[in-house]
Amino acid sequence: MASIRNIFRHALQDEDNRLLMASSPIFIMHILALGALFTGFSWAAVLALLITYVVRVFALTAGFHRYFSHRSFKTSRTFQFIMAWVGTSAAQLGPMWWAANHRHHHQHSDKEEDIHSPVVKDAFWAHIGWVMCRAYGTIQHHRIKDLNKYPELRFIDRFHILPVLSLIGLLYVVGAGLNIYFPSLGTSGMQMVMWGFFLSTILVYHVTFCVNSVTHIVGSKRFNNDDESRNSWWVALLTFGEGWHNNHHRWPLSARQGMYWWEFDLSYLLLCGLEKVGLVWDIKVYPKSIYEEAANITVDDKAV
Ligand SMILES: [Zn+2]
Ligand SMILES: [Zn+2]
Repeated sequence: MASIRNIFRHALQDEDNRLLMASSPIFIMHILALGALFTGFSWAAVLALLITYVVRVFALTAGFHRYFSHRSFKTSRTFQFIMAWVGTSAAQLGPMWWAANHRHHHQHSDKEEDIHSPVVKDAFWAHIGWVMCRAYGTIQHHRIKDLNKYPELRFIDRFHILPVLSLIGLLYVVGAGLNIYFPSLGTSGMQMVMWGFFLSTILVYHVTFCVNSVTHIVGSKRFNNDDESRNSWWVALLTFGEGWHNNHHRWPLSARQGMYWWEFDLSYLLLCGLEKVGLVWDIKVYPKSIYEEAANITVDDKAV
């Protein structure tokens, strides 16, 4: 027992070890996703993966990003709670932590202080390195005073494991139920958890992380922003519109990130659908002056 205690004491004293331990949840997530190799394949599991991908990418892009970070539309307290809960089930901590870091990113984009700039550090750091770093695990409360006043959001941020566990539990129950009542589907509780949670979460991780890494390195610039943000059509497809990142850095208050019909922005289209049924309202878009600026600007650095 004494030697185990010594190992832990040593690990906690050493900064590198602390960082390694802090990074373990995301590392373990990747290892556990390999479990899909052992639980087998079924179309029911693929469908579960698709549903949990679509619903959670929307909760992160429309909810965590466009609503909690930028307040680019309005909604009820109930729907706000639902977006927070579903977004947190993507295992990227809670909406307050997420919004605080993202507001920091907009304030210091690609400057020394930027937490995840591939320009200041490197692509790996911007993509996943900073998420593994213990130094950025705390919430910068002064940046999210508008969210702090909701006790239910503070609860979700504090117990961010609960939405994750509830999704795992739901998938297990659905898979086990299908196994009993529809055995011809060839699925099971564990298979649903592997595909619908672990594999899906890994995909959601990497597409959303691409917004921090890829769209500050590769793509085209429409505006001469004071940073390296770029527009990338393929990141936009994978992230439901977040790839129009150069547009977004020019005018972060817009809930629409693609500027034209050919800049496909699924999250914006879904938000318009939710507006029609009264779940969200006051959706902000780019003002006319931004379209005029886009039409007249000469960009000094057109990247591939
Ligand atoms: Zn950015
Ligand atoms: Zn943003």
